[in-house]
Amino acid sequence: MHEMSLAEGVLQLVEETARREGAARVKTVVLEIGQLSSVEPEALKFCFEAVAHGTMADGAALAILDVPGAGWCMACSATVPLQEVFGTCPQCGGYQVQATGGTEMRVKEIEIE
Ligand SMILES: [Zn+2]
Repeated sequence: MHEMSLAEGVLQLVEETARREGAARVKTVVLEIGQLSSVEPEALKFCFEAVAHGTMADGAALAILDVPGAGWCMACSATVPLQEVFGTCPQCGGYQVQATGGTEMRVKEIEIE
């Protein structure tokens, strides 16, 4: 389950930041998940709660922002919305679309106290 290792990565980053800021507890973690990142938000939430148990981030709320997928179409020479990594161009129907946006997951911000 790759969400588990992602959740561990998120927790590590969050704990490092919280410690650096001298926080006692992590209240909220805001995550950006790209539509093309193949990360399942619900599964990630579940895994995060599991790995955060007993840490500074125990009970922290996980806010997830969807980042729409985008790609560069060679034929159109334009950036187009993309629903899947190897999707077709919605303008010309071509397959030469390179995913350029919404392919990653990242921690946008954390709220501590
Ligand atoms: Zn196109």
